[in-house]
Amino acid sequence: SLEIHDISKSFEDNHVLSNINFSVKDGEFVSLLGPSGSGKSTLFSIIGGMSQPSGGSIYLDREKINGKRGSISYMPQSSSLFPWRTILDNVVLGQEIAGKVDKEKALEMIERAGLKGYENSYPRQLSGGMKQRVSFIRSLLSPQSLILLDEPFSALDEFTRTKMQKWLLSIWEEHKRSILFITHNIEEAIFLSDRIIILSNKPATVKKEFIIPFDRPRDVNLLLSEEFLT
Ligand code: ATP
Ligand code: MG
Repeated sequence: SLEIHDISKSFEDNHVLSNINFSVKDGEFVSLLGPSGSGKSTLFSIIGGMSQPSGGSIYLDREKINGKRGSISYMPQSSSLFPWRTILDNVVLGQEIAGKVDKEKALEMIERAGLKGYENSYPRQLSGGMKQRVSFIRSLLSPQSLILLDEPFSALDEFTRTKMQKWLLSIWEEHKRSILFITHNIEEAIFLSDRIIILSNKPATVKKEFIIPFDRPRDVNLLLSEEFLT
């Protein structure tokens, strides 16, 4: 499980995160929502070990992991593909670091993501939404049990997004992984998650947490009705 304990972060006099507390249980799908600029991606980079908090601690399975990279699979909001590596070589990066590459599986996932034929292309030859899917597959192929996804489908058309959402759910259900997911789309959050956490505006703190009360498949329209949103 992941425990976020009193995390704060300031960039000089810009106070971005203020005492953030929440947890993600093993196998849980949790979405994080909040206004643009409130600090969601900043929080992810701290959880992913890419930056240090100004205060507080991150625990993964009770071990403190502040500033430690590699214990969590992390898909950042902006592309983190290596320009000098092919798509296939980018996709297997997480596996390579873990010392166990499954090329067959990688090729299968590239095809499923609608990128067949691009295995040997370079990131600059792909569109924004295509690169987003490459980062997405890379994070799914990494072996860690917790995955952070920062607006993974923001650049996709409605049809492709729905396909990717269903795929993510099937992988999550099959492999019992834990997912922490950032989105601006409340319908997407309701469709995908077990629990939704809402951050307030800067300095961000946990404003509201609610559990989605039904098993899948969910009736999103019902869940978006007044009864459930108030
Ligand atoms: P969005 O929904 O638009 O992606 P967000 O909630 O992810 O927004 P962040 O990207 O975390 O927001 O940014 C929160 C604040 O932190 C902003 O005021 C931003 O200017 C500041 N910030 C983020 N990274 C840095 C950095 N490396 N140096 C200085 N300030 C930063
Ligand atoms: Mg962000």
